[in-house]
Amino acid sequence: MIAYFSMAIGIDKKIPTYSGGLGILAGDTLRSAADLKIPIVGVTLIYHRGYFRQRLREDGTQEELPEEWNPTDVMEFLPHRVYVDIGDENVAIGAWKYEIEGISGYKVPVYFLDTDLPENSPETRKITQYLYRGDKRYRLMQEIVFGIGGIRMLKKLGIKDAVYHMNESHSALIIHELSKKMSIDEIKNRCLFTIHTPIPAGHDRFETNLVKEFFPEWDRELDMTELAFYGSGYVNGVSKRHRDVSRQMFKRDNIDGITNGVHSATWTSPEFATLFDEYTPGWREDPHLLGGAERVPPEVIWSSHIKAKKRLLEFVKSDFNLNTFTIGFARRFIGYKRADIIFSNLDRLKSLGDIQIIFSGKAHPHDNEGKSIIKRVINIARELNGKIKVTYIENYNIGIAKLLTQGVDLWLNNPKPPLEACGTSGMKAAHNGIPSLSTLDGWWIEGCNEGITGWSLTDDAENLYDKLGNEILPVFYHNRTKWAEIMKNAIAINASYFNTHRMILEYNKIYKRMGGNSVIAS
Ligand SMILES: *Cc1c(COP(=O)(O)O)cnc(C)c1O
Repeated sequence: MIAYFSMAIGIDKKIPTYSGGLGILAGDTLRSAADLKIPIVGVTLIYHRGYFRQRLREDGTQEELPEEWNPTDVMEFLPHRVYVDIGDENVAIGAWKYEIEGISGYKVPVYFLDTDLPENSPETRKITQYLYRGDKRYRLMQEIVFGIGGIRMLKKLGIKDAVYHMNESHSALIIHELSKKMSIDEIKNRCLFTIHTPIPAGHDRFETNLVKEFFPEWDRELDMTELAFYGSGYVNGVSKRHRDVSRQMFKRDNIDGITNGVHSATWTSPEFATLFDEYTPGWREDPHLLGGAERVPPEVIWSSHIKAKKRLLEFVKSDFNLNTFTIGFARRFIGYKRADIIFSNLDRLKSLGDIQIIFSGKAHPHDNEGKSIIKRVINIARELNGKIKVTYIENYNIGIAKLLTQGVDLWLNNPKPPLEACGTSGMKAAHNGIPSLSTLDGWWIEGCNEGITGWSLTDDAENLYDKLGNEILPVFYHNRTKWAEIMKNAIAINASYFNTHRMILEYNKIYKRMGGNSVIAS
């Protein structure tokens, strides 16, 4: 059995226990595992108030409201209880069980740990209230419940000799817990660790005095990434480039690269799913077969795309035009993703021709730079006064991500290299024949075939206008057949590879090697 630990898991728009890429990846991974009958269970926390619900004021100021939801509607609360010491309190932990059903009926359980139990103090009841919120102390309490409580809960559920996959280092305290019964060599033979970001703020560190409060024997800083490295027999980054960047950053050679993917059937529009069923049968079980999308006639590709685009524009409810070239930009708003680059030269942008742009994305509540970029985008949109139509969809989530990555004409991404570890939204777009225009960073270094699957960007804003004006818009408006060929290539070349079926099979080789006989994978 494999136990997959992820602080956030995004499975469904009804379960708001994710904020962005990491959680969505976790959900897609478990879905592919269920389809492929890989014996895995997911472990995460429940977050009764989610991450947050975003509301934008007229002037672009982001408001953060609690995301109200009721786990009882979608999952089952189990009678099992385990306990962890947090300060002077022996905190009770319960678990909710959600089952992901694979394509042939195989079920993968996901356990959502919960401290909101009557036997706990008001303070510890709140540990599983919010994702990625609160101070360091709150986060450390969450990670104790997650790592230590997680191992104890699995044991209680009868899952003992597992291989433990840490999706980011938030769960690294599992190593501390396992070390009570196992030697470091045994632990290394069971644990693997996937790093997700080259940004230092993305790596949890807790100062000595704080750690001492919960672990009196501890006498130094607790660096979760370091702890995860220490206890893992296998470590990987999430793209080939991110592997190389991580090797440099952590001064270690033994970091591998397994490029992320997306769950094909989840992110493909109903229109394209119908097409694939006809032209590339079996693609849901084996997305590699999407290579056969080359067989779809160009006019069929185009008419399916128009239906998905129509669905998006009806949702947007502004005066957007179905025939106008539509650019999508949606992801977390944070400095390095540079959402406002397309607005760096408004005269040049206006001179390009008929374009409309749809934005969506949340900024972390503590990220003032990210919030100011949202404001900037919204204010420029207003200044443009319809010369370029721009709209911003509030409260980016799985549902909106589906509409956007299925319905725009071009997916734009311009992060500051090398900070995009992988990126997955462009892979969702590729499943719907939507080419990317993106900086060569993360997965796009592997996926970009210039002018064939999409286009690359250099690190210079003028290059964005050059690419749009000289290469992209002329094909879109004047050579529909060639545009449809590019759409087919995005599917046949990129979607057939950048999916979580291919990805989890790569991990499964590691799982089998590590777990020895305890992992019986199909
Ligand atoms: C796919 C997805 C992301 C990740 O997008 P990136 O471009 O990889 O950063 C974030 N949020 C939601 C809701 C998504 O569906």
